[in-house]
Amino acid sequence: MATFLRPGEKRPGAFGITFDLDAGSTQALPVFNKNERLALEEQRRRLPAFQHRREILYLVEHHATTVIVGETGSGKSTQIPQYLLEAGWCSDGRMVACTQPRRVAVMTVAARVAEEAGSVLGQTVGYGIRFEDVTTPGVTKIRFCTDGVLMREMFEDPLLTQYSVVMVDEAHERSLATDTLLGLLKKVQRRRPDLRIIVASATLEADKVVSFFDTSTVRGPKALPSDTMRKPALLSIEGRTHSSQIHYLERPCSDYVRAAVQTASDIHREDAPGDILIFLTGQQECEDAVALLEEEARKVRQGKARLRMAPAALYAGLPAAAQLAAFEPAPRGYRKIVVATNIAETSVTIEGVCFVVDCCFAKQTAYNPLTGLGSLLVAPISRASAAQRAGRAGRLRPGHCFRLCTEADFQQLAEATVPEMQRSELASTVLQLKALGVDNMMAFDWLAPPPAETMVRALELLHALGALGADARLTSPLGQHLAELPVDPRLGRALLASGELGCAEEVLTIVAMLSVQSVWLSPHGQRKALDAAKSKFAVGEGDLVSGLNAWHAWQESGRLGKWAHHHFLNHRTLLRAADIRAQLTHHLRRLGIPIRSSEGDVISVQKALTAGLFMNAVQLSETTVDLQNPSSSGINVYKMLHSSGPGEAPKLRVHASSVLARTRPQYLLFWQVQQSSSGWYEMQDVTAVEADWLPEAAPHVFQRIGARAHIQ
Ligand code: ADP
Ligand code: MG
Repeated sequence: MATFLRPGEKRPGAFGITFDLDAGSTQALPVFNKNERLALEEQRRRLPAFQHRREILYLVEHHATTVIVGETGSGKSTQIPQYLLEAGWCSDGRMVACTQPRRVAVMTVAARVAEEAGSVLGQTVGYGIRFEDVTTPGVTKIRFCTDGVLMREMFEDPLLTQYSVVMVDEAHERSLATDTLLGLLKKVQRRRPDLRIIVASATLEADKVVSFFDTSTVRGPKALPSDTMRKPALLSIEGRTHSSQIHYLERPCSDYVRAAVQTASDIHREDAPGDILIFLTGQQECEDAVALLEEEARKVRQGKARLRMAPAALYAGLPAAAQLAAFEPAPRGYRKIVVATNIAETSVTIEGVCFVVDCCFAKQTAYNPLTGLGSLLVAPISRASAAQRAGRAGRLRPGHCFRLCTEADFQQLAEATVPEMQRSELASTVLQLKALGVDNMMAFDWLAPPPAETMVRALELLHALGALGADARLTSPLGQHLAELPVDPRLGRALLASGELGCAEEVLTIVAMLSVQSVWLSPHGQRKALDAAKSKFAVGEGDLVSGLNAWHAWQESGRLGKWAHHHFLNHRTLLRAADIRAQLTHHLRRLGIPIRSSEGDVISVQKALTAGLFMNAVQLSETTVDLQNPSSSGINVYKMLHSSGPGEAPKLRVHASSVLARTRPQYLLFWQVQQSSSGWYEMQDVTAVEADWLPEAAPHVFQRIGARAHIQ
């Protein structure tokens, strides 16, 4: 078996910095069920949605579109599809689809509904996520899937004829795929008057969706049957909530973690009983705040307070057992203080909260179309988000919300969160829309139109990859193949190239590993050990080839869980990557791509990656003094070889977690960047390349001058 591991080659590096963006997490969110001890049927009857069962069914029957607003936990996702099934919406062999933005939600909701409906998962109740389909044709009636999966089904069945009702859930999140799907569904609805659409949301900002689907004043090509109303129905199944009194800071604070801890301690000392919920932005902040609160708790105990503090963290990466502490009622004599990321804003509901402390920030993804770079930043939240957070204090009785900013500053915040559609890279979305026959992107009915620059950038990338021709139409077969492969078009291009270069086995592994969250475990406080484990597989070709080495070593161990654990690798993630790899292999076979191993020829692998990632090529430009660490050998600054648009070129450097962090290759390709708090774009998953390979891979973008690559 080919291996790229060079024994003895050790590279020091600072590993272990991980993302803790909740949206990307593959871990299940906790579900707390206060009626756990009751029979399932009785649990179902106690949900707020049950009070509205008849009304929901009536509205869905009479309106083309129904928008349903209800707080998290009110029974939207689990109950509505079952009501539809019970009312006969699946009796003609069609299914009810319910989409979720996150894979994990698809699986947990499907499992719960299967249990409630007395079905084995995959029979009456099934699900579909990318790379995994647990549905039985002809048997499955309720199908949960991600928005992306439903969109892909439209390649084969553009009018979604298998479904009688499509419920788009968690629409308030306004994810890229949800927004795209809503635009497509509106198109389908014109051709399928019998299709029913339900849009479910956990917040009250539903007006936009209602007016988007309101076609009552538009003359459609086909009129709906006269008894179906084209004006969407709006139903709120909101449980009764109380208002929250808002408090602001007199002066701005410089450290919101400390300010939050201080505020919570003050509430604890001075206010009536009732749990406290603190909103911070990430795992580290939550852990820090809990540590500070525990310290505070010790002091308070000495002061003989009436109640004791019981702090608990809550973020998506937290082990399940620890998550439960945030949900269970505090023991008698204790006041629970939950320190959470924005998963507590809508994704989960914590009972018993009477006080909210809000730092008014959240981690957000951003995209700059001028540089083509995305990043993850701590950014101020919108006023709508803040209102949602404040509402979390009013479930039991009128609550209090303490915002850690001044009222004047608060008024400066944006009214609503910018939808992902307007702050994301769009190449994949555009490619799929093209494959679905949407030719003019600007004329597409967007719920929120993306910025023109972003659209231009996406078209430019797809053109450079060869997916679009000069007429901006999908090319055949390349563009069609790229649209069919369920991965980013850049990775798709690398896969197709690997067939020609005879290294598909290796590139399949690399792409599968990029399709899961990091395969490395990052246990708290064991960074040195993790570094050492990683360095065993590190090679000068970069992170992707190093990952490939780790993969091969895992294979040679016989895919042993114990082996993986010993080497700080996440066995479950590796198994999932293996599963994805098998599916991608199947896709390549179907496209007639030869699947061979490079037998140790690393260069062919690097060249295949170049064929997909050439737009992410950078060149070493200078070494500057590291102001934060002047004694170090300095920062190696890279600049992008291909960058459209005027303005200052972004400054890039290799992320500290990369195996190439301490080396200075002349040319690199990166897969991701992350913007540091000091403004640097830090490249992750980098691969060293030769300048010559760039014009070879993309002659229309790069031209060869001597040994260096230049932009044409
Ligand atoms: P919504 O979609 O409105 O947020 P759900 O339909 O997901 O609400 O859940 C309704 C209720 O069903 C929850 O409050 C909980 O009591 C129960 N429930 C949902 N999923 C699970 C689960 N996986 N395990 C136990 N109880 C669950
Ligand atoms: Mg739900």
